[in-house]
This record gives sequence, C-alpha cells and structure tokens, in this order.
Amino acid sequence: MTAAVHIAVGAVVGLWGSRLAGGLVNSESKLVRLAVQGGTAFFVATASHLVLDAVPHSEVMYGSVLGKWSVLATELVIIFNAIFWICCVRNLNFLIVFSGMAGGAWLDCASLLLDSGFPQNFLLNAVIDFHNYFHSQYVLELSLSLPMQIVIVVFALVFLF
Ligand SMILES: [Zn+2]
Repeated sequence: MTAAVHIAVGAVVGLWGSRLAGGLVNSESKLVRLAVQGGTAFFVATASHLVLDAVPHSEVMYGSVLGKWSVLATELVIIFNAIFWICCVRNLNFLIVFSGMAGGAWLDCASLLLDSGFPQNFLLNAVIDFHNYFHSQYVLELSLSLPMQIVIVVFALVFLF
C-alpha cells in the first residue's frame, strides 16, 4: 500500500490500541504510561502494515514518470498536515499518534533505505524478508486500487477525528 495509507491507518489503530493499553496499565507514573501507550501504538500499527500489505493493491504510482520521491513527498505533506490538524483540533497526544504513524511506516522505510544505497546487513535483510512475506502476490488495477486506498485513508482520518 502507499505510505499515506500506512501512516493514516497506523495513526488511528495505534491511538486506539494505546487507549486500550492505557486503561490496562496500572501505574501512577506519567512516563510509564506514555511509554506503554507509545509502545503499544507502534506495535499495533506495525501489525496493521502487514495486514494492509496482504490485501491485493497497486503501488504503480511510485513508478510513474514523476518519480517515486515527488509522489511520496506530496502524499507525506498532505497526510502529515491532515493528521497534525486533527491532533490539534481533537487535542490528541501527538507523541502517541506519531508512534502509530512511525509503526505504520517503518517497514517500508527499511526497504527505502536499501533502495537508496544503504549497505546490506543481516538485520535489515531479515526485516525486509519478513515484510515481503506478508506482501500480496496479486496486483490490483490502479483504477480500482487508488480509489480503494483513498477511501481507506479518509476512513482512517474520520476515525482518528
Ligand atoms: Zn509495506
């Protein structure tokens, strides 16, 4: 899936997961609560990444004439602004929301690192193999996949709001 989908879904499932964890954790310390909630957000969002990638989809927009980085930069600016705005309006804890966003995105960042010429190493390769294992073998038509991904982003943002 595209980065915006992973970041938006990661933010919302991370936030919800962190609320559940916050209700379960029995500590007076604010720092402990934040660590548990942030960690949960990251973990739940990472799981959401694997689930989303298992759904047949298309990522051909990254291979367009515009190039990967221009498409990526545009969607990142839009999604970060939308989530920032929701955090401000709804008074959400940005650290926790950001943990979810990072959890949703980091698996693809690992692949990007290698693409950008970062030296191969065992840990990075293991992470990427693990990620690819969940990635759907089927590619959906872009005309079907793009609207689907936009709907998922909008739904995620509505639930975050
Ligand atoms: Zn992925």
